[in-house]
Amino acid sequence: MAIDVMNPYDMAVAQFDEAADRLGLSQAMRAILRKPKRELIVNFPVRMDDGDVEMFTGYRVQHNINRGPAKGGIRFSPEVSLDEVRALAMWMTWKCAVVGIPFGGAKGGVICDPHKLSRAELERLSRRYATEISILIGPDSDIPAPDMNTNPQIMAWMMDTFSMHKGYSIPAVITGKPLAIGGSEGRLEATARGVQYVTLEAMHDLGMRPEDSSVVIQGFGNVGSISARLLHELGCKILAVSDLHGGVYNPHGIDIHRALRYSKEHGSLKGLPETEPVTNAELLELPCDVLVPAALENQVTAKNALRVKARLMIEAANGPTTPEADRILNDRGVMIVPDILANAGGVTVSYFEWVQDLQRFFWSEHEIDNRLESIITRAYRAVRAKTDEQETNMRMGAYLLAVARVAEATEIRGVYP
Ligand code: NAD
Repeated sequence: MAIDVMNPYDMAVAQFDEAADRLGLSQAMRAILRKPKRELIVNFPVRMDDGDVEMFTGYRVQHNINRGPAKGGIRFSPEVSLDEVRALAMWMTWKCAVVGIPFGGAKGGVICDPHKLSRAELERLSRRYATEISILIGPDSDIPAPDMNTNPQIMAWMMDTFSMHKGYSIPAVITGKPLAIGGSEGRLEATARGVQYVTLEAMHDLGMRPEDSSVVIQGFGNVGSISARLLHELGCKILAVSDLHGGVYNPHGIDIHRALRYSKEHGSLKGLPETEPVTNAELLELPCDVLVPAALENQVTAKNALRVKARLMIEAANGPTTPEADRILNDRGVMIVPDILANAGGVTVSYFEWVQDLQRFFWSEHEIDNRLESIITRAYRAVRAKTDEQETNMRMGAYLLAVARVAEATEIRGVYP
């Protein structure tokens, strides 16, 4: 792992400040958009399987709700912190604005190591956390979804908990649920599908062909593993993939279907036949055409940016690149499709799930994929056009579009009272 870690909230604010400068936002608007609107800290007990009670700390932060209800995932990890959740909430605001869906930004997290919890403990923790944040969440106010180490089953427990308190089922309070209880076709693959669509667009812009391109992916969870499969289906050669325990590399290409089976059976990629081990840090510096960080923040930093070999980076993870690394990569001519655009497929299909739950009328997978493709490619092209018009990089192009939309909504609504 890269070591010179930057506070993610400082990183998010630095990115916003640059966009605010370029847009010439007023001091008042800047002050409003810089700060999260609401921050809830919850400390709550969970009964463990051995009968002991353990205390856990969780957060739910709403950054901005001027364009619609707050929307954002829930992360379970020992590394969760209030500043991480604040940053992720702010990025959600810009992400929803950049793809033009009517949501504001939020995020939640619990400090815990889910790998050390039994299924029953995980269920009790999820249900209690959902209860604690129930004063904020709701289908019209704030709609959580999965993120790192949370999944459709956890979303089901949270939706059920919220519904039990109300006395009737409220599927639209959470997205990323299993299909059987109001989930959407295509949600599981949605973030990776978005990654696939932006990669195709970016390759087209750079004159690259998928069948001639090699790809390295960090992270092999929901986003990383499905991105690997979809990029492989486009014809790309996947040279390396990794998880928490490290990476596996084959300069001639990895058999992705085998990697998916192996990782499921062994709980890790470690020891995948016909590959050599690499660390997560080494993986980022491997020779390849496209680098896809799909794990966590702070991976490409001033320390390793000079050694990144890829000419295209697709930020499937949130916040994988520090602002200093951004400058280095931009100077070196590496094209970066920024997180708020590259991984927006997930929230876009979450939006479809919410709409379907509210109207109790469900769409086919084909309809979902077509709508997703049109939203993501339209957003990509709008960002590209803004980037070219302003002679900047794609991150700034995306920020200029997104921040202007949120600022406009904030301005029109006015300052209450
Ligand atoms: P996940 O829990 O399904 O998978 C995370 C992967 O990262 C796992 O393979 C895990 O082993 C690996 N990992 C964890 N810690 C690591 C470390 N220190 N070094 C290297 N690898 C590590 O999570 P996910 O849902 O795939 O999310 C991955 C990233 O994508 C996150 O940044 C998340 O915020 C972002 N994202 C997710 C979604 C979504 O719909 N799930 C949407 C948008 C963005």
